[in-house]
Amino acid sequence: MHFELIKKYSKTVKIVFTILLLFVLLDLIFPLLGKKEFSKEIHAKDGTLLNAYLTIDDKWRLRTELDEVSPELIKAMLEKEDSWFYWHPGINPFSIVRALYRNITTGEIQLGASTITMQVARMLEPKNRTYLNKVAEIFRALQLEIKYSKKEILELYLSLLPFGGNIEGVKSASYIYFNRAPDKLSLAQSITLAVIPNDPNALRLDRFNDEIISTRNYWISKFKQNEIFSSNELNDALNEPIEGNRYSIPVMAPHFSQYIKEYFGGDILNSTLDLSIQQTAENILLRNVRRVFYKGITNGAVLVIDNKNSSVVAYCGSADFYDEGSFGQVNGIIAIRSPGSTLKAALYAYAFDYGILTPQMKFTDIPTDFHGYQPENYDLKFYGNVSTEFALVNSLNIPAVKLLEHIGLNNFTAFLENSGFNQIGKQKSRLGLSMILGGCGTNLQELTNLFSAFARKGKLYPLQFILSDEHQKGEQIFSESSSYLVANVLSGMNRSDIAELSNYSKLPKFAWKTGTSYGKRDAWAIGFNPNYTVGVWMGNFNGVGSPNLSGAEVAVPLLFDLFNAIDYNSDVKWFESPEELITREVCSESGLLPTQYCTSTIRDFAIKDQTHNQVCSIHKPVYVNLDESVQYCTGCLPLSEFKKAVYAVYEPELSVWLSQNKYDYQKPPRHNPNCTAKFAEDGPKILSPSEDYEYFLEKNSRQEILLLAASDSRVKTHYWYVNEKFIKKSKPGEKVFFTPDEKELKITCLDDKGRDGRVKVNIKYY
Ligand SMILES: [Zn+2]
Ligand SMILES: [Zn+2]
Repeated sequence: MHFELIKKYSKTVKIVFTILLLFVLLDLIFPLLGKKEFSKEIHAKDGTLLNAYLTIDDKWRLRTELDEVSPELIKAMLEKEDSWFYWHPGINPFSIVRALYRNITTGEIQLGASTITMQVARMLEPKNRTYLNKVAEIFRALQLEIKYSKKEILELYLSLLPFGGNIEGVKSASYIYFNRAPDKLSLAQSITLAVIPNDPNALRLDRFNDEIISTRNYWISKFKQNEIFSSNELNDALNEPIEGNRYSIPVMAPHFSQYIKEYFGGDILNSTLDLSIQQTAENILLRNVRRVFYKGITNGAVLVIDNKNSSVVAYCGSADFYDEGSFGQVNGIIAIRSPGSTLKAALYAYAFDYGILTPQMKFTDIPTDFHGYQPENYDLKFYGNVSTEFALVNSLNIPAVKLLEHIGLNNFTAFLENSGFNQIGKQKSRLGLSMILGGCGTNLQELTNLFSAFARKGKLYPLQFILSDEHQKGEQIFSESSSYLVANVLSGMNRSDIAELSNYSKLPKFAWKTGTSYGKRDAWAIGFNPNYTVGVWMGNFNGVGSPNLSGAEVAVPLLFDLFNAIDYNSDVKWFESPEELITREVCSESGLLPTQYCTSTIRDFAIKDQTHNQVCSIHKPVYVNLDESVQYCTGCLPLSEFKKAVYAVYEPELSVWLSQNKYDYQKPPRHNPNCTAKFAEDGPKILSPSEDYEYFLEKNSRQEILLLAASDSRVKTHYWYVNEKFIKKSKPGEKVFFTPDEKELKITCLDDKGRDGRVKVNIKYY
């Protein structure tokens, strides 16, 4: 019995086995060809198509996923083309047998209805209609069914269907013919799209309109008979007119889309862009560029980062992409420009972490020579003894250069390179101290992302352009404490670079830093609060500067407009002060820990175990006579009629600058002129020029005279002044050259102990 059965079926088993083997062999010899290239699509966060690009063969071939298409369209397609699609293995044996029978009986060559899978095979490899090719198509259909799921095959079908001209796939057709996404189609539109591929060259929506309507209505009545859709819906569809337009594929956020297209792989790219914030930013940017146009400033760029996850929510590379006159196609977000003073915020944050600064610590802002480099402030003024906070908020140049020199140029550029500044990384061997005033190259993207680290507790995250659930890992580039300090200092409203506030009724709190590059070419303003980081650039893409350009006047109003719009009336909760950040009393004049001699103190921040514990060295007790007109040293101190009084003793350069600029402070009186103590007498001895010597110099020849002085070995520095004007700092014995332009020169050499040597020289010009 058992044997009988095997014997009976062994022939069938053999045939099946042979067919299977043959299929496997053919599959190995003729594997499925590679996939088709699809158009690149860029979508906004809410799914809106922002932009798409032609394929290499110049087709609009937008890859279509099932959940992007209205169910009516899929239903109509299946009903029309292949109602057994979900049940057959790629070929429909009944229809093939029927077609063969018809061929034999009628003598015509009829190939029978193709399944959707067979149609996909044909669209992937178009061939002439012959028997042999039909067999090949059947083989390919079987291969497709083995390799892909039904859903994938249907998606391929919907993506490849021809719609006339260079339009392929229902998604492309839906945008081009109906100006909408394929899930927003009406039933009439769905049925229209289902019939066009039958004869895509004749049934073009922008031509041959009547033919389309009659074909569509034929299918509507057929669907009515088969009760595929409710008859009410079908009646409505029957009455719907066909407009027969041709729209273009959307072109929104062009710079953003281009950037995504260039840097990210894949065809459907779901980005982080927030369309509503993007459109707001575009409008505000355009309005602001128009506002400053008469000042000779023609363009701008805006980048908005959501601080929740460092995602890019608005990206405007220029005010108008299509304006060639202002080079609108240049992308101002990645264009390399000079950052002006914007990097100072990073330098101060770095210094807070380094432990060498606190907001109340004092800096000297007086003319200074950094090995031949003599920076000036933006307003060409100097401010003397200023707090760190004041220096950062008012973007003073001397303190920043001094700070950079102290920290070390190499340390800071290495830090920036690690924090994503590529151009600075490439240039670093050629950069000088002026880099902190803008003497380097960076772009809006790098700068804005750096500032977003302040808003994210000091962590720098890679900017996110594509939606993803992946957990981003940030790098701690600043401590939470120094980020908090920078946010606090830069959010104060008491500053010069502020926009006219009456325009902003519900402005949220935020911190910002401005910048103006050398030659007034670039105006920057970068702001942040817990919600957003917003970077703004304004200038000209042809690099021409404008005398009316400044970060404060040009870029700040744009920044304020943006915060006022995208974060309007938000109940933003300001950053929380971290535990490591403590407050302490410091001397109000030095910003250092007070000694018993300091007269007043103020509250200042310090980072636990990090900030220095330097004590005030300015306030010193000095022996003076009773009316405080003469100072004594221990060598000349009289036996009576003296007292001890506390004075502010500044470093000589600052003290001279302060008295020259009429700053009043409690400085010690002059030293006892009758003092005979050796130490007091040995000020620098000026060796050149000689006292009362007459020099003969040729007029306008810029001839120099030599300044040279000697001091005892404890002296490290000489300060040279001619007619009370500071000339140069030098080491004792170092030759200093000076070009005089006056007839009488009072030359003073001050040492670092506060003692001086003086000579008078007359110059005769011939
Ligand atoms: Zn003090
Ligand atoms: Zn003395």
